[in-house]
Amino acid sequence: MGHRFLPDLSADELAERQLAGLKWTVGHAFANCPAYERKFREMGLRPGDVKSLDDLARLPFTSVEDLREGYPLPLLSVPEEDVVRIHGSSGTTGKRKILAYTQKDIDTWKGMMARCYELAGCTRLDRVQICVGYGLWTAGAGFQLGCEHFGAMTLPVGPGMLDIQVQILADLGATTLCSTASMALLMAEEVEKRGLRGKVRLQRGIFGAEPHTPKMRERFEELLGLKDSFDIVGMTELYGPGTGLECAAHDGVHYWADLYILEILDPETLRPVAPGEIGEMVVTSLCKEAAPLIRYRTRDLTRLVEGDCACGLRLPRHDKILGRSDDMIIVRGVNVYPGQVAEVLGRFPELSSEYQIVLTRVEGKDYMAVNVERAEGRASGGDEALAKAVGQAMQKSLLVSAAVKVMDHGELPRTFAKSRRVLDERQ
Ligand SMILES: [Zn+2]
Repeated sequence: MGHRFLPDLSADELAERQLAGLKWTVGHAFANCPAYERKFREMGLRPGDVKSLDDLARLPFTSVEDLREGYPLPLLSVPEEDVVRIHGSSGTTGKRKILAYTQKDIDTWKGMMARCYELAGCTRLDRVQICVGYGLWTAGAGFQLGCEHFGAMTLPVGPGMLDIQVQILADLGATTLCSTASMALLMAEEVEKRGLRGKVRLQRGIFGAEPHTPKMRERFEELLGLKDSFDIVGMTELYGPGTGLECAAHDGVHYWADLYILEILDPETLRPVAPGEIGEMVVTSLCKEAAPLIRYRTRDLTRLVEGDCACGLRLPRHDKILGRSDDMIIVRGVNVYPGQVAEVLGRFPELSSEYQIVLTRVEGKDYMAVNVERAEGRASGGDEALAKAVGQAMQKSLLVSAAVKVMDHGELPRTFAKSRRVLDERQ
């Protein structure tokens, strides 16, 4: 297909690269990072024990606690003179995560981001307006590095500053917008308000960092005249944004399996889930120097998307992020994630996006009830049929039956907190 940045590897070629990268990473971490060396020794492992990709399952896990313990430069595996940059996460609880980068790490990252622009259909004639945070955060730096490496024109505006955003958008004729979904919506409304739609030349958006509903996406796509928009994924621990991107087929996120190995594990047992099932993303970097990751538990939930992608790209895919593994509940021995409930509700335009899960136990048996609300302005006439249809869809998706109750719009508490979304009355 003549891609400049996206690799085209057969399954064998990919496995070969992964094994070479895994061996290198384990050897590098063992030799240069006391924290890793200790973990390996505790398990009686030596770098030479990694002989095949199956040996990955024998390696110790790395967690956010390891990052905290090593603060401010966790998992540092190179001499300080080789560190050229640090970035940090916005971490809401406890110490923020700070990660170090060598020049090679920066180069790997810019290549990852260049792949994203290529997959989104950009050319060197595109003008890319970057409206995300700069500085300590990885977002701005990642989008800009990748854009320059890709060869398109960077318009680095940063977050906020709606006035300047809209001015640059119209005057410079940005064709690609990189922002959060809520920022895109704000800009769309501002463009509308100022009657600037005729001057906007946007074709596509690359959106990340926060979950958004299909409805929200439709609205800003329409208001900004976007032909397409793409979800981008990433995390500070693994360079930053750009660890994968949705393609034009919109059936999952292609991720760079030649640069990191993705395992999908049951967060309770830490064993692989069945193909296509939801589990926690556990990542192992394959060429990261300053702070290599070995089986890092991201706490993010997703599933692998099976089969070949309609876009023709031979890079594996995972689904969008479906929530956090900390939110998992176990009902009748089945792992249930609130994000799955939200996903099912999203298929019913008759419903709002609010829901509440109530768990009870009667004579030792678990029962799950899900309270949902009618969408704004919907009449209550079809509640019974609606509840039945939602219940069937949930049973199919969650593999657990749920008693669904349809309530009036606005009846449920508005919150993102798990504590109020899930009422566990089983104790
Ligand atoms: Zn694809």
